[in-house]
Amino acid sequence: MTTTKGYAAKAATGPLGPFTFERREVGPKDVQFEILFCGVCHSDLHMAKNEWGGTNYPMVPGHEIVGRVTKVGAEVKKFKVGDLAGVGCLVDSCRECDNCKKGLEQFCRNGSTGTYNGKDKISGGFTYGGYSNQIVATEEFVLKISEKLPLSGVAPLLCAGITTYSPLRHWKVGKGHKLAVVGLGGLGHMAVKLGASFGAEVTMLSTSPEKEIDAKKLGAHHFALTKDAEQLKALTGKFDFIIDTVSAPHNYNQYLNMLNTDGVMICVGAPPTPSEIMAFSLIGGRKSLAGSLIGGLPETQEMLDYCAEHNIVSEVEVIAMDYVNTAYERMLAGDVKYRFVIDMATL
Ligand code: NAP
Ligand code: ZN
Ligand code: ZN
Repeated sequence: MTTTKGYAAKAATGPLGPFTFERREVGPKDVQFEILFCGVCHSDLHMAKNEWGGTNYPMVPGHEIVGRVTKVGAEVKKFKVGDLAGVGCLVDSCRECDNCKKGLEQFCRNGSTGTYNGKDKISGGFTYGGYSNQIVATEEFVLKISEKLPLSGVAPLLCAGITTYSPLRHWKVGKGHKLAVVGLGGLGHMAVKLGASFGAEVTMLSTSPEKEIDAKKLGAHHFALTKDAEQLKALTGKFDFIIDTVSAPHNYNQYLNMLNTDGVMICVGAPPTPSEIMAFSLIGGRKSLAGSLIGGLPETQEMLDYCAEHNIVSEVEVIAMDYVNTAYERMLAGDVKYRFVIDMATL
């Protein structure tokens, strides 16, 4: 076992603080790496505060993890010591079910293992995430990272990047499509960048007027303030696709009304409480309401390679480890530009 330094939520209320724990020794198929940067996802906050239920404390969040390999097992083929490496939201799955065989490990029939708060099938107990100085994971769940891009900006691709890339690819969003992105935070800003990169005409739908300039810099062609009823009226029936990244309860019907005939609204944001959907929001115009969860391992690697080729990274605010509680408060207030990333040298 290797003693590991981290930062943990100790209870549903109260701040995160220092926490020391053990990680397993490097097995024959394992890769160990020193964590250099870890992104701060709103899911970390939902989980730390037990908003979705099922959190086991102490809980070490973090699933946007990048660093440099320090040790590899004898059977490891893809990595050697000194290589860059990444871990996203998953560290294990059965690898035998139909979904795993299709590279959809996030939908493993036997339950995939989350990078944190997941049932650890190897060491027992629960997995600990990337707010820590090192990680050990089986090679199949470790991603190759290009040396070309700034590493702090690559970290958020491991969750915010793949969570928006995957539905855009699945629904083949691109040239000739009008795409709206709801919520300009970590996921939202990646949806704008990737959607624009795939050739879609992108509209940012935000509650924050001050984000308009940035939205356009990120690649959005249009911006609408969702608090302004007049601006919303003008968008009725307009979009082929909407990606909803909002973390808090909100009115889905309002956005469904903005879909064109046969349009699809894809929920990636995961508010902790249910919302009411009017059947009438869907039946007129034959609209679809869909959802999407992160992405499988092959698609995550494809996304990282795409971003390296097209110079796409996250816009980040690099923070020290002990700033994370303030970062959570700012995230709750919608004050992100556009992903907090922890510099693990400050741990
Ligand atoms: P974030 O950085 O905090 O961004 C969320 C954005 O939503 C805010 O910046 C804000 O943008 C908007 N917003 C917040 N409260 C709102 C409200 N009451 N009404 C309307 N808009 C509001 O969060 P994130 O890290 O991008 O994560 C977003 C959500 O996706 C979270 O629920 C997270 O758990 C979930 N998630 C899902 C997956 C998946 O696989 N499906 C993966 C990762 C994260 P504006 O200021 O522009 O309005
Ligand atoms: Zn996440
Ligand atoms: Zn499986």
